[in-house]
Amino acid sequence: PARGDGLHPDDLPIREELRGKSAYGAPQLDVPVQLNTNENPYPLPEPLVERIAERVREAARGLNRYPDRDAVELRTALAGYLTRTTGHPVTTDQVWAANGSNEVIQQLLQTFGGPGRTAIGFEPSYSMHGLISRGTGTHWISGPRAEDFTIDPGAAARAVAEHRPDVVFITSPNNPTGTAVDADTVLALYEAAQAVGPTLVVVDEAYVEFSHRPSLLPLIEGRPELVVSRTMSKAFGAAGLRLGYLAAHPAVVEAVQLVRLPYHLSAVTQATALAALEHTDTLLGYVEQLKDERDRLVAELRALGFEVTESDANFVQFGRFPDAHEAWRKILDRGVLVRDNGVPGWLRVTAGTPAENDAFLDAVRELKKEQR
Ligand code: PMP
Repeated sequence: PARGDGLHPDDLPIREELRGKSAYGAPQLDVPVQLNTNENPYPLPEPLVERIAERVREAARGLNRYPDRDAVELRTALAGYLTRTTGHPVTTDQVWAANGSNEVIQQLLQTFGGPGRTAIGFEPSYSMHGLISRGTGTHWISGPRAEDFTIDPGAAARAVAEHRPDVVFITSPNNPTGTAVDADTVLALYEAAQAVGPTLVVVDEAYVEFSHRPSLLPLIEGRPELVVSRTMSKAFGAAGLRLGYLAAHPAVVEAVQLVRLPYHLSAVTQATALAALEHTDTLLGYVEQLKDERDRLVAELRALGFEVTESDANFVQFGRFPDAHEAWRKILDRGVLVRDNGVPGWLRVTAGTPAENDAFLDAVRELKKEQR
């Protein structure tokens, strides 16, 4: 909002490293078809909405008290979910939860990064890894990705050896490209990191439920410096809830408790997340539909003549455009909002409902005709 006095944040005594930076800002435009922020298009089912109301009503009776600071019931339910879906036994003391995986990442950087320390990610990737690094005073290094947006384990390991980071981010499936890594790549990077470490390796699995491949979570076994971060924002269709979590050695969980704010997870958040976890099977059913729609988007975009990056996520990167921003604008003119992540030549579309995806495919079909 314009204040009229022309004062800019840079005119205030803000920290040097924040000067001239822009805030995270996916446009929130009021457009009929919104396929730009990798949200789940399906609203929570009505029985779950009812269950949330019940659980929150119960929690409301105790809101005069602070919530369970360690969110034990919720972490136990999350550990159960991870055990059931990965086949790897995860215990409550291996799980930590916070307000979105963004806060999980912030707590990890506050604990393992910070002034005088360095973090690396392989870009293009999730821009918040770099932004939260800066926000916590951690020096950020942009590591390499191959032409096809996969991680070349050799090149990535060399970057780790050169920069000797304190924290390594591996996003799998990666945002915005959709590409996933296999266990061998994680192990190669973990080894490279330990060779120059001690170094924390964070595997960001925000989109893993949509993947064709299994979770990398079992790799935490016997590797105390490997962390897997997860979220209920995508597969659980609960972006508005703000619930992220991690799985790691119990010592990592103890370590992040040194920086978390007391009572960071409200009783309302804990109650809502617990209700959602009771409906896991229904929600994972929507995930199956979204995976089919994602595969359809890949196939149809290719049939239209677009280049499409292999996707293990609930979104698809497509191109190439001589001017991606102009293409973004033309798709928007047809009532469909996709994402320009600033990857030259490429745009990203989130898998929506079948009708939303049809609207998107109609818009890009017209765009293709225009280009001929
Ligand atoms: N990691 C990745 C790779 C993401 O794309 C996102 C959301 N866009 C997040 C983490 C953060 O999600 P949340 O804070 O909603 O859990």
